[in-house]
Amino acid sequence: MPELPEVETTRRGLAPHVEQRRVQSVLLRRPALRWPIPAEVSALLPGQRIDAVRRRAKYLLLDTDAGSALLHLGMSGSLRVLPAQTAATTHDHVDIALDSGHVLRFNDPRRFGSLLWQPPGETHELLQGLGPEPLSDDFDGDYLFARSRGRSAPVKTFLMDQRIVVGVGNIYAAEALFAAGISPLRAAGRVSRERYGLLADAVKAILAHAITRGGTTLRDFLSPDGAPGYFEQELSAYGRGGEPCPRCGRPLKQAWLGQRATVWCGHCQR
Ligand SMILES: [Zn+2]
Repeated sequence: MPELPEVETTRRGLAPHVEQRRVQSVLLRRPALRWPIPAEVSALLPGQRIDAVRRRAKYLLLDTDAGSALLHLGMSGSLRVLPAQTAATTHDHVDIALDSGHVLRFNDPRRFGSLLWQPPGETHELLQGLGPEPLSDDFDGDYLFARSRGRSAPVKTFLMDQRIVVGVGNIYAAEALFAAGISPLRAAGRVSRERYGLLADAVKAILAHAITRGGTTLRDFLSPDGAPGYFEQELSAYGRGGEPCPRCGRPLKQAWLGQRATVWCGHCQR
């Protein structure tokens, strides 16, 4: 499943091929993905110049004067820039043809992705009420400390709450808590300011590292074969329940927190 680093890598890969290009046509091979594709996409996007490709949380926005196309990769989606004559395959659902002779093609086997529309000057309801970007200066230990006071929810649940900070999924939450030495089960309101500083730094470092590694896949955005793969993870905790802790060698614990498997070291994480 594409996480924030994959979405950011997608943005960086697409931007040079898409920004400042004019949309010639939009081809929808089905009327809906996860949600119906709004009429504005077909009606307003053709003829518009794409001024910027932006990311907010795990959404990509193609900004034009008429509004922004809002894309989400869902569980299995990917975006490629291909020569316009490239034959479509089974799960190629949307083509946005550009004046460069290329198409921006959205492929999504499981169809949990989405293509929506945001009018100029408005914020789509899916983007309202979101917390700060984890790589921005608004996200730091002081912020987490302030937002967590009085909260009894486990710190891992708190960290994965999109209203607190966007884009920290199960994998990155587990890894950041391991790096910071904080038990995922500890009440969010019972973590000190200093330790939230370590946690915020760990989140930033882990996401930035994943984005850097994703840079090696950017060349794939212009090749019709070999879809841009989701990154292989170098993981210390996530998915490693029962294996030795990479730090102390004791077996990692595993429990369910809500619907999510949670792995941690009972010795190194308090
Ligand atoms: Zn350990």
